[in-house]
Amino acid sequence: MSVQTLSINFINEKNFTKQMSDNQEYTYKYPRASLTVDCVIFGISSNNAINVLLVQRKNPPFQDCWAFCGGFVDMNETTEQSAIRELKEETSLCNINLTQFHCFSSLDRDPRGRTITIAYYAVVDFEKVKDKVRADDDAKQCQWFNINSLPALAFDHEQILKKAIDVISMTRDRITIEKGDITKYDYDAIVNAANCSLLGGGGVDGAIHRAAGKGLYQECLTLNGCQTGQAKITKGYNLPSKYVIHTPGPIYRNGNNNEDELLASCYRNCLLLAEQNNIKTICFPSISTGVYHFPLQKASLIAIKTIKQCLISMPTIEKVTMVCFDDNTLNYYKQALNEQ
Ligand code: ADP
Repeated sequence: MSVQTLSINFINEKNFTKQMSDNQEYTYKYPRASLTVDCVIFGISSNNAINVLLVQRKNPPFQDCWAFCGGFVDMNETTEQSAIRELKEETSLCNINLTQFHCFSSLDRDPRGRTITIAYYAVVDFEKVKDKVRADDDAKQCQWFNINSLPALAFDHEQILKKAIDVISMTRDRITIEKGDITKYDYDAIVNAANCSLLGGGGVDGAIHRAAGKGLYQECLTLNGCQTGQAKITKGYNLPSKYVIHTPGPIYRNGNNNEDELLASCYRNCLLLAEQNNIKTICFPSISTGVYHFPLQKASLIAIKTIKQCLISMPTIEKVTMVCFDDNTLNYYKQALNEQ
C-alpha cells in the first residue's frame, strides 16, 4: 500500500488547495477517487478443479476477511505494474500473465471512501504454483480455495469474481442460448439427455436415435450403459454432428438425492469428454427437465453456472450452445445466462 497515494486521495478540498501550492505537480481542482487494483487468480488442477487464490486481510476495513490480492496504485507505476507488484508482495507469485478485465466503481464499494479498482485475472496451472504462495505485506494468510467452497469475500469481491468468470467464459460469445431442434445442429458434438441403458428412449434421446440411424444404436450396445452424471461418446452417424455425447441426467425426486450435483456433473463430464476429443463446438439440450422432472429454473442455473466455470479451464472449446425446444425453456436459460 502506498502512503503517498493515500495522503493525496483522502485529503479534503481545503487541504487539497494547500497541497497544490506546495507541490505544483497536482494541478486540477476536482477531488479525486483512489485507484486500486485487484487480482483474481484461477488455479486449474490436473483433474480440472478450479481453485481461487485469496488473501486474508491484515488491516481494516474487512480485517481478517478473505479477499483478492490487491492494493492502492502508487503514483509512479501503471495499474499493470501495480497488479504485478501487489501479487508479488501479498502472495509471492511472480511471472504471472495478468489480463485486465473490468473497472469496478460503485460509489459505496469501499467504506474508506471513493475507491475505483481495476481488476485483473490470470488462469494458471495449479500444480505448478500451489506451493509457491506465501503471505506477506498486507496479507495475514494466503490460501487456495475450491471455487465451490469459497469463504465470504470482502468489499465487492463476489461481483469481481462473477465478472471474471463471465468475461473468461463468454469471450467471443462462447455460450449462446437458442431455440431449436438439436438433431439439426452441425456442431462437432451434440449432447444426448440419455437414460442409463444408452439404448434410446423418449424425448430428445428418441429424436437423436431416430435421426442418427441404426449405427448409433449398435455402437451404444457396446458401451455397457452409463451411470447418472457420467458421459460417454459415440460417432454421430447420420446426424450433421460428428459426435454424440450421451449423459444420463438425474431423475428429480425431492431435491435431497444429490440431484443438483449430479446434474452439474453431467455438464462437466460432457465438456471434459469434448475437450479430450478436441471438440470445439458442442450443444446441449436441457438435461433432465423433460420426463426426469428437474425444475426448469433450478436446472438452468446449474447448467449455466457449471458451463461457465468449466470454460475457464477449457480454452480449446470455442462454442457451447444450449438448444431449447420451446419458448419457456429458452426464456429460463436466457435469464440464467444473465443472472448466473
Ligand atoms: P430428460 O429425460 O433428461 O428429462 P427429455 O428428452 O424428456 O430428457 O427432455 C429434455 C429436454 O429436451 C426437454 O426440454 C425437451 O423439451 C427437450 N427436447 C426434446 N426433443 C428435443 C430436440 N429434438 N432438440 C432439443 N431439445 C429437445
